[in-house]
Amino acid sequence: MKLLLHACCADCALKFFEATKDEKLEITVFYYNPNIHPRAEYLTRLLTIRKVVGKEVKIIVPDYRPKDYFEEVGDNSEKPKRCVKCWNLRLERTARYAKEKDFDFFCSTLVTSEYQDQEMIEKIAESKAKKYGIKFWKTKNNCCDLKTKGFYKQFFCGCVYSLKERYEEKYKVK
Ligand code: SF4
Repeated sequence: MKLLLHACCADCALKFFEATKDEKLEITVFYYNPNIHPRAEYLTRLLTIRKVVGKEVKIIVPDYRPKDYFEEVGDNSEKPKRCVKCWNLRLERTARYAKEKDFDFFCSTLVTSEYQDQEMIEKIAESKAKKYGIKFWKTKNNCCDLKTKGFYKQFFCGCVYSLKERYEEKYKVK
């Protein structure tokens, strides 16, 4: 069965591969993340995913267009509003691409991250599944306790707002 997996970082991608290793899945990674800022961070995460999933896994990399993200978020730059928009954008594109290219399922590493609202993400994903007539893959073991090291791990979620928030937290800026 062919599955299109939206992925935005190596750690969560590895967790997903681990959680589904006994399934008969042919996984293609879809690196659609216009939210990630700056470009250097975007490229570093992409190269790290490449490193951890191995050369045999195909990675689709649509054009990097931060404009997509800012248009989607608009004036909703506060959490959790901006996150809902951000998940919506990335799941929309993933489901659409999966349907266009005849995948059997789509999914996202967002569902393996304990930092994200998994219930909301699944709700959005199910609505995209319905809209495009493609199945959303629900992992049986979403978030395994995988000890990983030896590759780049980000210290912020991805967007410019989350980067700012992390620095404010770190340096106790009000
Ligand atoms: S904090 Fe993360 S999920 Fe929320 S908008 Fe930023 S990148 Fe997207």
